[in-house]
Amino acid sequence: MPSPRITPGAGRYAPSPSGDLHLGNVRTAVLAFLCAAQSGRRFLWRSEDLDRVQPGAAERQRSDVESLGITIDPPVWSQSTRTGIYEEHLALLAAQGLVYECYCSRKDIQQAATAPHMPPGAYPGTCRDLPEASRATERARLHAQGRVPALRLRTDGRSETVHDRVLGEVTAPVDDFVLRRGDGVFAYNFAAVLDDGLAGVDEVVRGDDLASSAPRQAHLTRLLGFAVPAYVHVPLVLGPSGARLAKRDGAVTLAELRDRGFDVWAWIGSSLGFGPWTGVDHALMEFDLARMQREPTVFRPVG
Ligand code: GLU
Ligand code: ZN
Repeated sequence: MPSPRITPGAGRYAPSPSGDLHLGNVRTAVLAFLCAAQSGRRFLWRSEDLDRVQPGAAERQRSDVESLGITIDPPVWSQSTRTGIYEEHLALLAAQGLVYECYCSRKDIQQAATAPHMPPGAYPGTCRDLPEASRATERARLHAQGRVPALRLRTDGRSETVHDRVLGEVTAPVDDFVLRRGDGVFAYNFAAVLDDGLAGVDEVVRGDDLASSAPRQAHLTRLLGFAVPAYVHVPLVLGPSGARLAKRDGAVTLAELRDRGFDVWAWIGSSLGFGPWTGVDHALMEFDLARMQREPTVFRPVG
């Protein structure tokens, strides 16, 4: 009898193509690759281009990372080509009664009282159980403004805990978060979780600014019928002000840094608490998540 085909799991890097990657983004991409490659996973790439797209940025982001000697495995996905798939899976959730329309503005939500166990800004559930007559009125009101209702996930507001390989347990209440926005664009949480599931991603490595999204994403992952991936939220690179590194901090893109003779691999290795790395093979040999420095690194761009 032939032995069953074993499909290796996958890691991924999923940037939003709103501009060139800066050194902090590149370091996160490198970490995602190292974790995948050391564990025999494929390393996938997904462009999260549902909004905030700068023309040409998606291609430059990918070639910047490949220029470091990193190999990206197929398939490479662009979310903007996948909206039909998102519609189908949203319909499956809706058929289970897990989706409802929300007519609230951002201001409505800010002004509503939040349930005591929910973090500030959590959706208070205003539209969850509206009678159909009110829904029709609200829909018509939005329609007159050229908008559609946002679509939210029906949850029971319970907390979820995920285990993170860097941060340990991350617990947060799961509110009725948005699946499709009022401008008709699929929400990051929905598209990212569905794509990770469909692509067989079983390890999510990304910046720790997204750690607080992991519990709600894990909840949605299960509802969509996928296994919850391992999470690895890695420290961010900060700029001189102590806020997360940004383009306005100076020369921070790979092209700018290379023009100044900056050694990207050496800096990445040192900043993570290893020696200066000479390249991808050296990094693969030396990297060890358990020994990675967990404090954020401050980068002071020159020029
Ligand atoms: N597109 C997101 C970002 O650039 C990352 C999404 C993810 O890794 O889950 O911040
Ligand atoms: Zn609402």
